[in-house]
Amino acid sequence: MECHGSSARVVRLALVLAALVGPRAFAQTPGPGPSRAVVRVPRNDGLTPDNLARLAGSSATARDLLARLEGVPDATFLVRAHPRLVADERLLGRGRFWVVRGHLYGVLEYQAEPAGSHRALRVLAHELAHALELGMLPREPDTRALESRLRVKELDDRFDPAPGIETDFARAISYRVHRELRARDRTPSDLLAQAARAGIALPPEALELSHATR
Ligand SMILES: [Zn+2]
Repeated sequence: MECHGSSARVVRLALVLAALVGPRAFAQTPGPGPSRAVVRVPRNDGLTPDNLARLAGSSATARDLLARLEGVPDATFLVRAHPRLVADERLLGRGRFWVVRGHLYGVLEYQAEPAGSHRALRVLAHELAHALELGMLPREPDTRALESRLRVKELDDRFDPAPGIETDFARAISYRVHRELRARDRTPSDLLAQAARAGIALPPEALELSHATR
């Protein structure tokens, strides 16, 4: 399943339901956080912990997003910087998701860029937003059922007619986070409002951001 992207851009973002990926990615790259963490980072990824901390420290909406992700039930999301995502796939970011016996797994990847890159943070926020919206859909027993539900949702929302899946929610969150990072928008988190607009029921905030503090 492919994705979206503005037509004039060379690089795009992708949201993929990856039935064939399977949970092996997690076995190969265990996260450094405690086992209860929903959002995890591979041990060999030196960029992502700093990027997550930067997001949480500089954007109220991103901080809220990360806290809510830890409250998503029965879900595990691996987040990693990919050194060749643009070169090999012509993608700035991609989220691959699948469901095994009702547990949602996701691998969220974004193009590795020098520390402090706002573009990398914006793309990271975009993929995290997809993880939250998929995580809060009524949970399906397997990936195929999740795909069917997404397609129905896409029609209901009259989404972008471009092939593949893109959501207003992920776009809005990444735009908002980008503004907050650039300090144009020193306002409280916009996550609740955006979720309400998209019909997403948010989980309660976790008490701590365990993944970003190690
Ligand atoms: Zn997207």
